[in-house]
Amino acid sequence: MRNKLFYCLIAAVLICAVLVVGLFDRDPFSMSETAMGTVVTVKLYNGTQADAIALFDIFEAIEASSSVNRSSSDAMILNTVGETNNSYIYEQAAICTDIAKASDGAFDFTVGKLTKLWNIGFDNARVPDKKEISDALMSVGYDRVTLDGNTVRVASGQEIDFGAIGKGYACDKAKEFLENSKIKKAVISVGGSLLFHGKKSGGWTVAVRDPFSENGIFGTFVFDGGFVSTSGSYERYFEAEGKKYHHILDPATGYPAESDLVSVTVIADGGALSDALSTACFVLGFEKGEALLIRYGASGIFIHKNGEVSTCGTVDLVREQGK
Ligand code: ADP
Ligand code: MG
Repeated sequence: MRNKLFYCLIAAVLICAVLVVGLFDRDPFSMSETAMGTVVTVKLYNGTQADAIALFDIFEAIEASSSVNRSSSDAMILNTVGETNNSYIYEQAAICTDIAKASDGAFDFTVGKLTKLWNIGFDNARVPDKKEISDALMSVGYDRVTLDGNTVRVASGQEIDFGAIGKGYACDKAKEFLENSKIKKAVISVGGSLLFHGKKSGGWTVAVRDPFSENGIFGTFVFDGGFVSTSGSYERYFEAEGKKYHHILDPATGYPAESDLVSVTVIADGGALSDALSTACFVLGFEKGEALLIRYGASGIFIHKNGEVSTCGTVDLVREQGK
């Protein structure tokens, strides 16, 4: 009789636990705001509004230091004075330098003068003339950036741009915060860079946007958690004289990268890493991009211009019907 009572009690506790976990699973605390030039959403499965606000404070601190659209940022100090020892800038510059070397300059964060010239994503975007492009190209060269102690220095006339890494870096900093909190499960999305934190029963299901249609889904994959970043030519572009110009530039030419791809999704164990790799792969194209991902132990989904898909690593994309 006592045994029976004991087992009933255990069963009741287990049922309650499952219900409680189920409730949290169904109803995470969610908050969305515009930050880092995009929509940022945090979903915390057992977190509070105070946690979400703390995360948005972190994003604001990163943007305040790293944005080249804010006149008082540390990135602007670096671009004008030539050096800074801000730790956010240092950490991003270190990862950028690593991926720039590994991609043979297809990824190059010293494209600041070029991106400003094109201004893609802003109202005054335009096709620069050839002379402007060749002048701006003279300032491009990641190998002229030095990282020394905790100081980043750029060569005279160089301008850095962390647009290709900043959103993923914000996911890295969110991960640090979550690991030091009681939050066991969360999804953070900073534009095209996402963090899936913690374990979810059955895994996390991630949708990959259809680059060929407005707001459609191309396919889904399931994974255990980590960082996901997508770079695509459909994300930001403008049209002039019937031609589309997108925002991922080829540092070799100064023009938007002429890739065989329309989008690349990278799954890696770092946010800045996945963000930098997705941009690099877009510029490199499928073959060299795949080799780069293998080198970093990352997985990738490459959507080609002709609609075909290639994957590498451990990811298994399930395509939507008709895609
Ligand atoms: P998104 O910002 O849409 O997520 P990406 O992560 O691919 O897309 O980054 C694109 C941004 O990176 C551009 O808007 C620009 O600021 C910068 N950028 C463009 N071309 C390059 C490049 N070849 N290497 C490094 N940064 C680049
Ligand atoms: Mg990127």
